[in-house]
Amino acid sequence: MDTIGHWIGGRAAAGASGRTAPVFDPARGVQTAEVALASAAEVADVVRVAADAAVGWGASATSQRATAMFRLRELIDAHRDDLAAIITREHGKVLDDARGEVARGLECVEFACGVPHLLKGVHSAEVSRGVDVHTVRQPVGVAAGITPFNFPVMVPLWMLANALACGNAFVLKPSEKDPSASLLLAELVQRAGFPDGVCNVVQGDAEAVDALLAHPDIDAISFVGSTAVARHVYETGTAHGKRVQALGGAKNHMVVLPDADLDAAADAAISAAYGSAGERCMAISVVVAVGPVADPLVDAIVTRIPDVVVGPGTDPTSMMGPLITAAHRDRVRAYVDGASAAGATVVVDGAAGGGGPGFFVGCSLIDGVEPGMRVYDDEIFGPVLSVVRVATFDDALALVNANPYGNGVALFTRDGGAARRFERDVQVGMIGINVPIPVPVASHSFGGWKASLFGDTTMYGPEGIHFYTRPKVVTSRWPDPATSTVDLSFPSTP
Ligand code: NAD
Repeated sequence: MDTIGHWIGGRAAAGASGRTAPVFDPARGVQTAEVALASAAEVADVVRVAADAAVGWGASATSQRATAMFRLRELIDAHRDDLAAIITREHGKVLDDARGEVARGLECVEFACGVPHLLKGVHSAEVSRGVDVHTVRQPVGVAAGITPFNFPVMVPLWMLANALACGNAFVLKPSEKDPSASLLLAELVQRAGFPDGVCNVVQGDAEAVDALLAHPDIDAISFVGSTAVARHVYETGTAHGKRVQALGGAKNHMVVLPDADLDAAADAAISAAYGSAGERCMAISVVVAVGPVADPLVDAIVTRIPDVVVGPGTDPTSMMGPLITAAHRDRVRAYVDGASAAGATVVVDGAAGGGGPGFFVGCSLIDGVEPGMRVYDDEIFGPVLSVVRVATFDDALALVNANPYGNGVALFTRDGGAARRFERDVQVGMIGINVPIPVPVASHSFGGWKASLFGDTTMYGPEGIHFYTRPKVVTSRWPDPATSTVDLSFPSTP
């Protein structure tokens, strides 16, 4: 059985800890490889390599970084299918969806190609007589990225593109559930011309993460994963003096007003709830049906569910693949099985669906859901869509705002005034108006509110550039020698 290892200093490196974790093909339910789990000592070795590389790379010209980033863009473009195949093999999502993931990650590389422009800084001439001020942004040093299983290419690219473009060295700690894509990404970074040690991959679990959080030479930490771990990463990383952005879990609502286009809303609900088997942090897991729209909307969703073809991601007819592990499949099934006892109505029970040795479940739809029920309160991260019925727009807004998560939300309506009020008053970071999965394009930034984000900076786009750089403000005076005098008073603008 293959052991998936690390990427350190520009080349593949085997693990030395003796600890490993199994890697599965979720569609077949069989173990296909094992992944090395780094010890704290191995993490320290990687960080040393990265810290050495950060010195030269941080001083490199932005034009050199842009050139390498353009080459990386070309290489990822040429390897779209290879990356997508690896994603499907280890994660299980269907190939089309995997290609979409690569495309969205590539957008972040394209954004980072503009680094000479992005790092231009600000200059104010003549703020006082003979005095100019300019602000430059410099790299932070070594940045670590800790990523979840559900986007093994896109989420690392959210981080590493901007981190490298800004002149930092980067250490990626991917999910141990689907680790292989990280190694192809690191190889492409190498081939693009980034110096050895500037981009490294250390495989591992909580032990490696905790070693990164405490290591004195790690300056910045980007994390994406579940809320409990995000909170731990934020609290521990900041306690060690690092800047941290930690994106957590989600419970995304889709509010449907009575005036919405019913077919468009039902199509969107199906796509956003069951795409990638619900294993997306921006998946819709709750439809909030306002007033009389509830019955026809539930009917429209129910009639569409049988059309969702569940099967292996490599089969082009499949629309939804398996879940990531057997344990996760069983956890998702338990939510559906427990919903009736909690007082909800299981309208479509997909819990037993899928069958076979793979980690499949079918689509489930649960009506009459309310806060306080586990299907509502917990992030299920599976193809389970709940329907909460409310009487008014204000009730819908209050429901969304009372939820502890604030990642994404969607509103379906034809009413511009309602949409405008919604986007102003809803306490969520990313809002879709008639858009079910409002993942911002790479020229904006991604991040939620409340328990979906710990830290002050969201990810990629302009906020990513800020996160991976520190400002330096230079005030300079070049007086005309003919006007020089001694003046002991406090400097002020004349
Ligand atoms: P996870 O929190 O289990 O793991 C994420 C990372 O943390 C992995 O690299 C893992 O090895 C590491 N980790 C796990 N347990 C740890 C611990 N106790 N201490 C230190 N490190 C630990 O998340 P996951 O199951 O891989 O991914 C799914 C979760 O990620 C969902 O909650 C989903 O909503 C969230 N997610 C959020 C976003 C977002 O942008 N907000 C995006 C994608 C996924």
